[in-house]
Amino acid sequence: MIEKDKDDDIFEVSCDYCGGAHESIDATPGWQAMIDKIKQRGWRIRKVGDEFRHMCPGCFGDHKPW
Ligand SMILES: [Zn+2]
Repeated sequence: MIEKDKDDDIFEVSCDYCGGAHESIDATPGWQAMIDKIKQRGWRIRKVGDEFRHMCPGCFGDHKPW
């Protein structure tokens, strides 16, 4: 999932599958810049049902099912 921190200046990205992997991205450049950055780092985002799921590079590499 992706949440903003309480100061609204950092996006906190956490893996919806292992719960362990985590990225903190500067929120200043905006939402799309953050999405591009985590994708460059190997994260994958997919819509499952009504919600977006966020998978870390480790889980993606392990071929975890969405
Ligand atoms: Zn993970």
